[in-house]
Amino acid sequence: MNDIIKKSDSVIFQTYARFPIVLEKGKGCRVWDTDGKEYIDFVAGVAVVNLGHCHPGITNAIKEQAEKLFHVSNLFYTVPQTELAEWLVKRSFADRVFFCNSGAEANEAAIKLSRKYFSEKGEKGRYTILTMTQSFHGRTMGAMAATGQDKIKHGFDPMLEGFDFVPFNDIKALSDKMSDKVCAVMLEPVQGEGGIVCADKGFLKSVRELCDKHGALLIYDEIQTGMGRTGKLFCHEYENVAPDIMTLAKGLGNGLPIGAMLATEKVGSAFKAGAHGSTFGGTPFITAAALEASKIIEKEGILDKCLAASSYFRSKLEGLKKKHDVIVDVRGIGLLLGVKLKIEGAQIVKKCMEKGFLINCVQNDTLRFIPPLVISFEEIDLLINCLDEILAGLSA
Ligand code: PLP
Repeated sequence: MNDIIKKSDSVIFQTYARFPIVLEKGKGCRVWDTDGKEYIDFVAGVAVVNLGHCHPGITNAIKEQAEKLFHVSNLFYTVPQTELAEWLVKRSFADRVFFCNSGAEANEAAIKLSRKYFSEKGEKGRYTILTMTQSFHGRTMGAMAATGQDKIKHGFDPMLEGFDFVPFNDIKALSDKMSDKVCAVMLEPVQGEGGIVCADKGFLKSVRELCDKHGALLIYDEIQTGMGRTGKLFCHEYENVAPDIMTLAKGLGNGLPIGAMLATEKVGSAFKAGAHGSTFGGTPFITAAALEASKIIEKEGILDKCLAASSYFRSKLEGLKKKHDVIVDVRGIGLLLGVKLKIEGAQIVKKCMEKGFLINCVQNDTLRFIPPLVISFEEIDLLINCLDEILAGLSA
């Protein structure tokens, strides 16, 4: 592995702090490195591989589509793109879908659509988007400007104009910033990168009411929380509060690169031919795979599996909290779970990896557990025993 790591470090941009292993194979919730060492994967490509690695249904869909058609551009219609959009529209608040290639791109589309909507209505000065502190919306210039974390923006000034920030879950602060210059409020129902912080009960409803009162749009970034990750197809279903625009990526393709922006007809009709586009957005190859991944969520009862694994996992994490003072909080929903620590998490992540478990850490002190939604109770037990041992070793 050392040769590949050395070679990679000499030719790839050093934008990622990587773990020193080279992964080459995956099946279900397990991955193997080039030395043959097995790991149980509680990262799942950062909440992407929701159905497990190399799901045979998706592999078959890819093989079949690869023999038919890869790419023709959006100058033409294709069946998989149409069927995936129809699948999403039937199961959501939305009437229309725009396909792109990543989460950041989906958010760019959402930012552009919300501004275009008011510009088409003749409200040209109405372009401010309010987002939440500690939010994460991506690395492109627009999505980065929307992100409420200074460390992400450092060195990239000037930021795109027209964003302002309010503390997450603070409805009074949001209310104070609302005006007829605000075109949209944008938020994640659970801040994943921000430390696994859930919207308080009732927060989405209050935000919706404020948006309606001021005529602003509501955008949910469900890039991490969508496609079953929280035990509902979309996390906002827990509160039954629909947005005007929603963005998806990550689990939508189960590992193939795809993003999507969904919107109501009222808002979506502001995007006319030529207003936005993407060469690779929604190619038949990628959408055929994403369509199969979406169908599998229903065919294989993935939401129920996620909920069962979540409550088991959570109770085990709560058990660890009772035993180990270093754990401050167990948080999250579905299989987007976090354990906030009194100490930095990096040492624990490293020890887990040595013992054959992949986990990661956000905001330096919060361990994040985002396994495939098909993780078994036995696999959860194995991780819990490993964490128990590591945490006992810390206090010894
Ligand atoms: N929005 C949220 C909530 C995310 O978690 C992420 C990625 O972690 C993004 C946007 C950006 O997605 P991508 O990395 O696909 O551009």
